[in-house]
Amino acid sequence: METVNPANGEREYQVETDSDEIVTRKIERASEAFSAWRLTPMRERAALMNRTAGELEKRREDLAATMAREMGKPVTEGRSEIDKCAWVCRYFAEKAGAFLAPRDIETDQGRSYVCYQAIGVILAVMPWNFPFWQVFRFAAPNLMAGNAALLKHASNVPQCAMAIEEILRRAGAPPYLFQNLFVPGSKVGTVVSHPAVQAVTLTGSTNAGRSVAGTAGSALKKTVMELGGSDAYVVLEDADLEAAASTCVQSRLINGGQSCIAAKRFIIVAPQRQRFEELVVQKMRAVTMGDPLDDATQLGPMARFDLRDELHAQVMASVRNGARLLLGGTIPGTEGDSAEERVRKGAYYPPTVLTGVVPGMPAYHDELFGPVAAIIPAVDQEDAIRIANDTCFGLGAAVFTRNLAEGERLAREELQAGTCVVNKFVASDPRLPFGGIKQSGYGRELAEEGIREFTNIKTVVVARD
Ligand code: NAP
Repeated sequence: METVNPANGEREYQVETDSDEIVTRKIERASEAFSAWRLTPMRERAALMNRTAGELEKRREDLAATMAREMGKPVTEGRSEIDKCAWVCRYFAEKAGAFLAPRDIETDQGRSYVCYQAIGVILAVMPWNFPFWQVFRFAAPNLMAGNAALLKHASNVPQCAMAIEEILRRAGAPPYLFQNLFVPGSKVGTVVSHPAVQAVTLTGSTNAGRSVAGTAGSALKKTVMELGGSDAYVVLEDADLEAAASTCVQSRLINGGQSCIAAKRFIIVAPQRQRFEELVVQKMRAVTMGDPLDDATQLGPMARFDLRDELHAQVMASVRNGARLLLGGTIPGTEGDSAEERVRKGAYYPPTVLTGVVPGMPAYHDELFGPVAAIIPAVDQEDAIRIANDTCFGLGAAVFTRNLAEGERLAREELQAGTCVVNKFVASDPRLPFGGIKQSGYGRELAEEGIREFTNIKTVVVARD
């Protein structure tokens, strides 16, 4: 597998694909490691996670640079990602014992309780967009629960994958408790079908989720699916427009717009549309695009050239279908450049604003995974909520209003998504369950709900003498 630096098109790294024999050996070793780890006391597991947090912090600078080179994340964002990984390790080190403590239940059958036990080797299929965070938000709770882990990371971030395995090893993880599998997506089905693999979690596109969940389903193995999103940010008539526009732009541009929970559709009620458009254009235009290794950069290149080209095709198809381009929408250096020159310039895509987005356009229905804001007009509040829910996705949603009680009602009762927020942007947090509905997937990560996903919720009843 060969990777390319998206900032300049140069070859970044090459890694040998694991042969079938190596994959089988890794699965068997993971299974052996699980047999001992499941009996390891919780305080020892917690000590490992705390040491892991320390190792992450020690290598913060070089891990941020690795992300920049492999998938174009600006180093300022990369450092924050590493901090968040350390947080999730310490959080589950502290809380797992309480989350997994046996729970007494009153019955007339005798002493009855529920306990939560590790189930074995879990396969994690992970994406490149938050190459450390996505992995640690799976690994921290699952290692604390007593499971063993196999990571099939995205093919374009092998150095991130290797760094994660090394960090856990340096922190003192038992051999083979956490291992990378270097296999392409087409080999994942074989791993899922291995009898020693008990469950699978996948974070990625809806297509990948459908394929892996299908294989796991036919083998009757549990899955958690964290898939794509097209989060609606609804701006009501009484919203603080300046604050709403800032939050929308910030959420749209995090990680270059390549986040499942980025704001993707801005739904604006009629009287506010024009002013909101002006504010969004002004704020998107002010963003500094450049070398992800430079501290001044706010927007790096997209993670891969093919993803940049796919995004551009979605923008162009929306324009052909009647959307108006208010900003961006051109690949830098296109005019008169040779193909080689464009590659040398990196997989950049400028902050782009589309308005007049309506049904029938990719910007209305599809996930735009890059720095493109799609502004959708709504007649009134009811129309805005209808449009927000008019999507096959259901990961996050936000509403902006000065009426907090009404905003909360809309978030709780009306918006269809796994996380709904008022006057802020959707963000994952170790303390809060995270996941989607509809085509955005099922199951939850993080918090108490997340750590229990891959446990045997065992009922124990002991008859009284
Ligand atoms: P992707 O192409 O689906 O890849 C994700 C992972 O799945 C990679 O490891 C990939 O391996 C693997 N994969 C792809 N196709 C597969 C298949 N048919 N069978 C088995 N494995 C397969 O997604 P991406 O482009 O990396 O990430 C972007 C997508 O992830 C977006 O839709 C985004 O919204 C979603 N995402 C969701 C969340 C969430 O929490 N809900 C978080 C982040 C991202 P290869 O790299 O080897 O192809």
